[in-house]
Amino acid sequence: MRPVASQERTALASALRAWAEYHRDLGEAGVPRAVRGSVTTARPPAAALATVGGEAGGANSLEELREILGDCRRCKLAPGRTNLVYGVGNPAARLVFVGEGPGHDEDLRGEPFVGRAGQLLTEIITKGMQLRREDVYICNVVKCRPPGNRNPEPDEVEACEPFLRRQIELIGPQVVVALGKFAAQTLLRSKTPITRLRGQWFDFHGVQLMPTFHPAYLLRNPGDKRLVWEDIQQVMRALGMEPRRR
Ligand code: URA
Repeated sequence: MRPVASQERTALASALRAWAEYHRDLGEAGVPRAVRGSVTTARPPAAALATVGGEAGGANSLEELREILGDCRRCKLAPGRTNLVYGVGNPAARLVFVGEGPGHDEDLRGEPFVGRAGQLLTEIITKGMQLRREDVYICNVVKCRPPGNRNPEPDEVEACEPFLRRQIELIGPQVVVALGKFAAQTLLRSKTPITRLRGQWFDFHGVQLMPTFHPAYLLRNPGDKRLVWEDIQQVMRALGMEPRRR
C-alpha cells in the first residue's frame, strides 16, 4: 500500500471522526437530531474534507485555522486594525451568518457583530429564531476593519476569502445567511442587487445560502424588517425549525 503522508492521515482521521459523530447523532428516523430541533452539532462528514487549497486548506480545525492566520499581514488592512475579528459561536453550528467586515466596536472587541447592528442581529437570532448566539456561528467576509468603514477592496477580499471558505467548510453548516449586499455579492460572485438576491436560495460550495438585508440597513430602514423575517423563516424551515407566529 502507498504510504499516506501525515497531513493526509490527519485529514482522514478528522473525516472519520466527523463520520462517526454524524452517525452517532442520527436519530431513529435516520434524521440528524439537530434537524428536528436545535441548531447544534450534527453535520455531514464532507465538512472535514478540504476543497480549499493553500495554507488555509491545511487546517483541520477552527483553532488550527486561527493559528495559521496568526498576526495576519496578508493585506493592507492589517496596519489599521486593533484586533483581527475571526468569528464566534458554535464550531459545529448548522447555521452561519456572514457579514461584511468588522466595524469600530468589533475592531475594539475582536468579536463580530457587537455594535448596534450586532444587537439587532442578536435579536433576530434570540427573539426571532429562539436560538442563542452561541448556537450559531458569526463571521465576516474580511477579518480586519476597513478604514472609515469603507467597503473591503478586491485584493483584501481575495486575501481573506480562503480563510472564510475553510471556516465554513470546517463548521459544515447546513445554511449560510449572507448579511447584506456586500457579503451576498462577494460570496455569490454576483452583481445582482441585494433587493433581487434576498429571499432566494443559492448554492455556496454545496451549502444552502440565503441572502438577506444587513442589520445596519435595517436600522436605517426598519420597514424592511418584515422582509428579513420572511427570509429568516425560510432559513428556519430549511433547518427543520418551526417559525413561531408574530
Ligand atoms: N457589520 C458587519 O458586516 N460585520 C460586523 O461584524 C459588524 C458590523
